[in-house]
Amino acid sequence: MAHSDEPDFDPAALRARYALEREKRLRSDGIDQYREARGDLAVYVEADPYAPAAVDREPVVEDVEVAIIGGGFSGLLAAARLSERGITGFRIVEAGSDFGGTWYWNRYPGAQCDTDAYCYLPLLEELGYMPREKYAYAKEIFEHSQRIGRHYGLYDRTHFSTRVSSLEWDDALARWHVRTDLGDDVRARFVVSALGPMSRPKLPGIPGLETFAGHSFHTGRWDYGYTGGDSTGGMTRLADKRVAVIGTGASAIQCVPRLARDAQHVYLFQRTPSSVDFRRNQPTDPEWWTSLQPGWQRQRRENFDAISMGRAVDTDLVDDGWTDIFRAISSPKGENRPRSREERDRVVELTDMRKMEEIRGRVDDTVLDRETADLLKPYYRVMCKRPTFNDEYLECFNRDNVTLIDVSESKGVERITEHGVVADGNEYDVDLIVYASGFETSPDLRRRTGVDVLGRNGVHYDDMRAQGLRTLHGFCTRGFPNLFSIGISQNAFSVNMTSMFDDQARHIAYIVAEATARRARTVEPTDAGQEAWAAQLTRPSSGGDGSGGFLSSCTPGYYNNEGRSTGTNSFLGAFPRGIGAFNQLLEDWRAAGDLDGLELIFDS
Ligand code: NDP
Repeated sequence: MAHSDEPDFDPAALRARYALEREKRLRSDGIDQYREARGDLAVYVEADPYAPAAVDREPVVEDVEVAIIGGGFSGLLAAARLSERGITGFRIVEAGSDFGGTWYWNRYPGAQCDTDAYCYLPLLEELGYMPREKYAYAKEIFEHSQRIGRHYGLYDRTHFSTRVSSLEWDDALARWHVRTDLGDDVRARFVVSALGPMSRPKLPGIPGLETFAGHSFHTGRWDYGYTGGDSTGGMTRLADKRVAVIGTGASAIQCVPRLARDAQHVYLFQRTPSSVDFRRNQPTDPEWWTSLQPGWQRQRRENFDAISMGRAVDTDLVDDGWTDIFRAISSPKGENRPRSREERDRVVELTDMRKMEEIRGRVDDTVLDRETADLLKPYYRVMCKRPTFNDEYLECFNRDNVTLIDVSESKGVERITEHGVVADGNEYDVDLIVYASGFETSPDLRRRTGVDVLGRNGVHYDDMRAQGLRTLHGFCTRGFPNLFSIGISQNAFSVNMTSMFDDQARHIAYIVAEATARRARTVEPTDAGQEAWAAQLTRPSSGGDGSGGFLSSCTPGYYNNEGRSTGTNSFLGAFPRGIGAFNQLLEDWRAAGDLDGLELIFDS
């Protein structure tokens, strides 16, 4: 994408429009507009529509070397990388009845990963698995997690359908008590928390939500018993049903086309339109696949991450909607590179606007009704909200059985009644409400994961965090010995989450293996190690890369803590120099071999 051509739009007018749209959506209650799915609403999260049967077993009391909390990709990668280092005395505890995590729970129709499958699906080389298409659907991804489970012999080492309720450090034993909803007490020397950054569904705090007399569920718990069919569609039981979908984020963009095909009528309630870029999925070319050389997956992932950080590369190996966006928001390179930061920011803003003009143009080219098309156009910078990619969504609005209802003026759906949804002064009678309302991203661990973590002297993790989170490299915190978290807090972020999880899993496996080999009783960061890391995190970063400064001008969403980009959000506060620099830093740290910043305590 060219960086310096004169725009064929008015940047000042667009800037003003972006600010207006942001203003229109800002709510004084910020993140509190959402409701936790607890108490009477817990069923939206805790009921498992996919478990073959309720689990009936005696509580387990056992001692293990490592407890891995979560059997999604991050937990599976932790298990794989620990196994490779010879640490096999671990127990995985998983809420679902199988592996998969996100891809166990998110089986809504059309669910698909927006990241290139050759980058996203972990351990492809180790398992010799060829993804069917460039963008894998949920079923294939779920099956891949099962494949990993079988390959590394993890099924026998997992408690399925078991929710961890608390982790409590026992100083006398030098072990964590991992307590579960089934009354288990797994006493673990080390704990790897692999709960996922966005795993717990959240609900919009719409008045009257409990009064609806029809059926309802969250996209992350699709009830095929009610709709019929499966994630490929075929929801024959919806043929005479009116369906409301609340929310228009990445999940809604994927499920609405399938609902439109199968339901009598779909009412889609939209507060902020998503940017919907091209998908262009294609089957894997077997010839290309067999031409790949060992190490190809890491190379591909690093190439993708380098482009995401705006670095120049010889070839864009992934070459898709994501990398197109990354190019649009990266600083110009080469001879025409602007000299000042202001000049550079202006050029980047223009290419960003150009990209969004392209997205808005795509709406105009596809949607026939002008009024509907205008409502579907996003007015914000491209990385303000999670971009989406789909070749069927916009087409839905040319169908007679799909109605788009704009709820931006009222900052959301007004009310839910016994019969349906009230918006725009009208009541829409429906049989089913689908909440496509996203997932908890609160930094409050208990809210985000449902787990209470009590460290040394009974200190609650969330009380510690409220004083200002301190970690070493984002993985571990003083006062919480032998506990390591895989995630996005104070480490570096990649759009390709699984490569990030894999690098973290390797690092944690290294520390656990070292602490074990050195016969340490406990390992945890020193104060000095944490302070040094905190200083690295406050180094300035460039705009448009997920930093707080850029996000403060964005339309509200979970990326910017619902418009308050400062303060608390697990997506903020990442290592500013990006995933490549972060991984290099960790590699150097491991090579030094002195576990700098960690304190090891030995049995006397
Ligand atoms: P999001 O949080 O992205 O979207 C929630 C939606 O609910 C928004 O459109 C929001 O509107 C809307 N909403 C919330 N409250 C109200 C209300 N009171 N009235 C009307 N609308 C409301 O959730 P998703 O599940 O769509 O996506 C979450 C994340 O999951 C994605 O961003 C992505 O990271 C991940 N995902 C990844 C996929 C992949 O390909 N790997 C596929 C699907 C999801 P508003 O925007 O105005 O706040």
